[in-house]
Amino acid sequence: MEASNSGKPRVAIIKGSTPRDCVLKGIDLLGGISKFIDEEDQVFIKFNLFLPNGFPTNTNFDVLGAVIQACNNAGAKKIYVGCFPYKGFTIKTISDILGLESYIKSLGAELSFLDNSNRFGKMGSKEDQIIAVKNATMVETEINNQTYMVPRVIVNSDKLISLNQVNVHPIFKCRLSLLNSYSIIPFYNQEVRVSKKDIDNNLRDDKYKQELTSKIIDVFSIKKPNLVINDLYYILEGAGPFIYKDSKLKKTGVIIIGTNALSTDEVTLSLLKLNDLNNELSIAAVARGLGSIDLFDIEIIGENINDLNIDVELCVSKLEDINVKNLFIKTGQYCSGCYESAYHLLNLMKTNMVKDLKYISKNSFLIGNKPPEPQGLKNIIVFGDCAINSTKNYDFRKQSIQTKKKVKEKVNKSILELPGCPCNVFQCVEAIVNYYGKAEVPTLNLFLKTVKSYYFKKFRKNLYLWEVL
Ligand code: SF4
Repeated sequence: MEASNSGKPRVAIIKGSTPRDCVLKGIDLLGGISKFIDEEDQVFIKFNLFLPNGFPTNTNFDVLGAVIQACNNAGAKKIYVGCFPYKGFTIKTISDILGLESYIKSLGAELSFLDNSNRFGKMGSKEDQIIAVKNATMVETEINNQTYMVPRVIVNSDKLISLNQVNVHPIFKCRLSLLNSYSIIPFYNQEVRVSKKDIDNNLRDDKYKQELTSKIIDVFSIKKPNLVINDLYYILEGAGPFIYKDSKLKKTGVIIIGTNALSTDEVTLSLLKLNDLNNELSIAAVARGLGSIDLFDIEIIGENINDLNIDVELCVSKLEDINVKNLFIKTGQYCSGCYESAYHLLNLMKTNMVKDLKYISKNSFLIGNKPPEPQGLKNIIVFGDCAINSTKNYDFRKQSIQTKKKVKEKVNKSILELPGCPCNVFQCVEAIVNYYGKAEVPTLNLFLKTVKSYYFKKFRKNLYLWEVL
């Protein structure tokens, strides 16, 4: 199924008038849906469902509808659609806000509550009951000495389709299908913990990114998709992958579909002129023997790459380039863990604190190991364990007070420490609102209230037991 008559994996590049037409045409070019889906198959479609936002943070539902329809036409017995969302959000919350469960049913499939959040209300809060449900619905899988919890519904499905909305990504340049596979496991299982020993070496070698890359490839290898769709018909460029002030929606009019994830990602990278940037995920997958990224080993059909001239503005690579009003960003050495969480926090601040920061001058944001001293002695945000630990003896920690007789030193209390390795972004937002006070940051407080209302408050304890939070 994966290879053509030439023995090479096939990848179709489709340009068309609508995303729906593109995806259907692409499937036809690859031989039709019956090449991938057999009658009576149980199909799992891994789409993007990260936040209670619309497309393109999440998957384009026109494309999802077209894929579901194609699977139904092939005679699939059951079609599930699912994804683990961003930390702190449940599938039930997002489904309720977006009206997803009934909508996906109307498309001819079933939304899979991989986190069992649709059952929390019925289960009560008995710990053993919740753990029993968790164990019954997940399969423990060991790869590379790491344990992963994979939903049974995915493991038991006959076919897996990766339906990935391509957006720019702060660590891996673009969110491609290898990264899409990673959210088949719960968020707590996706997290990387950096050893505090030998922190200089860890930062220099970016052990966080190495570990994350390895884990993504582990999870990808658990169940490889039979059909891979990289939807870049519309792509969020600039400050993606979520919708921030500096995010821009670009229309490329192109969807890429293939029979092998690695090849489909490589063709996508080539089209975006990003394949010379040594994509770490692809390289790691090749090293594990999961496929080839040599374009000569791929049969490309449909449009010619050279005829499509697509330039995409990537995420900034330096945090200092995120220009937040009245905030001076001072960086020491940091790894990809702090970079990614600070990237999201700074973009959230830029998006949701425009008016707040207009009236609070001279704020500093210190990140990484041994950052420079801040701009002044007021409103200093110290982000992450490395910054907190390495600035313990810095000058800004003390303030000199001139009395009539002498100069006195006292502890500077105008400092907000945000611990974490890396930090939890939404906890940081909460701490920032508490530090400045709701009256000083009304727009950020409104954002926080909105996010908090999304949390499944009543069943918060269950979420912890389930390890969603
Ligand atoms: S605190 Fe941040 S920079 Fe330091 S090791 Fe942890 S994630 Fe990396």
